[in-house]
Amino acid sequence: MLLLGTMLVGCWLVQRRHAYLLWVAASYSLVGGALAWQSLMDTADLHRWAVVTGVMYLFGTWCFARGMAGYFNVSARPRLGLAIGAVVLLALYYYSRVEVNLWMRMLWLNAGLGLLQLLPTARILQRRLPTAGLERAMYWSYVLFAINTSVRPLLSLAIGSRGESAASFSSYWLMMLATTLLFALLFSMLLLANTVRDAMTALRAERNMDPLTNLLNRRAFQEAAGHLLRDPRLGPWTLLLGDIDHFKRINDTWGHARGDHVLQTVAAALTQQVRNDDLVARFGGEEFVLLLRTDLASAEGIAQRIRMQLSEDKQLLPDGERMTISFGIAPIASPTELSATLSRADGLLYQAKQAGRDRVYVARPLNETQTS
Ligand code: GH3
Ligand code: MG
Ligand code: MG
Repeated sequence: MLLLGTMLVGCWLVQRRHAYLLWVAASYSLVGGALAWQSLMDTADLHRWAVVTGVMYLFGTWCFARGMAGYFNVSARPRLGLAIGAVVLLALYYYSRVEVNLWMRMLWLNAGLGLLQLLPTARILQRRLPTAGLERAMYWSYVLFAINTSVRPLLSLAIGSRGESAASFSSYWLMMLATTLLFALLFSMLLLANTVRDAMTALRAERNMDPLTNLLNRRAFQEAAGHLLRDPRLGPWTLLLGDIDHFKRINDTWGHARGDHVLQTVAAALTQQVRNDDLVARFGGEEFVLLLRTDLASAEGIAQRIRMQLSEDKQLLPDGERMTISFGIAPIASPTELSATLSRADGLLYQAKQAGRDRVYVARPLNETQTS
């Protein structure tokens, strides 16, 4: 358990987040330490250290509950936990100092540990069942572990009532060690898998994002557009290609940092004007591509809104200069049309630039008309 705890601390060090890893590691160290100490201790000495080992078990178990509560984003009810711990410690003191009774101590301690583990379960259970496989595995493992800990007092009661023989105690002790270690292994594996999955998700996001604007990059756009266009229930779809006008001049006149700021402002305006399930990407330089789940006419309206919003932004460029953008817009119906539609929109964008920039050119079935 100490090794597993060390591994979890390692996981935390790699990411420097997910403090619940540290709570679980603390739990493993405290409970594992107490188990090791008691295993090595002379049985006759058990009662002398009962309160100290009790503190280790109780606090260690609460740390585990705290870790799980952190993982599921609920409260571990620390005050209630403290009250339970205090009552159990009083009982442990009584049955180790006033009247020495090993089975009563086991009963009280296990009841307390079970309750501590159940502290966050009610809140976790109240929430909607997690859908991701890993969360679900974690969820049910924890519920199972909490039930196991809560049922254990009854088991110790049953065994205890068969007499206080050393044999019945050591078989109970072995079973408890085995289940605790098994669960510790299980949770370590789940938490490790969680760490790996998080790292993968972060890497994937990094691979798909343009770091300057936080928009999708070309690669990610093509992948996501392929997915969306393949779904026959969605649509109609329209592809928009936007390019900032005279961007080179913005860089040359006011510097690269101003240029970057303009790119970020344009990205924000694009994102703000579209819906959540639309795609917004930066295709490199000052060129943006949008895939909107709407028809040509509303897509044109959206492009005009973006164009006007940006050209009316007086903070964007110094000296009261206006920043403008041009668009080429074409409808798209299937993933196989993606590159042809991009070329079509690019042709329209080129025409818009030729016609003087700051305008939106839309593909028409018969003739292509300018709307500016
Ligand atoms: P047009 O109106 O015809 O589109 O002219 P333009 O100046 O906008 O187009 P051009 O392709 O000539 O220039 C694009 C410029 O964009 C050149 C390049 O230095 C600049 N650029 C490309 N990527 C970045 C970036 O990440 N940050 C900044 N600040 N500038 C960039
Ligand atoms: Mg440009
Ligand atoms: Mg360009």
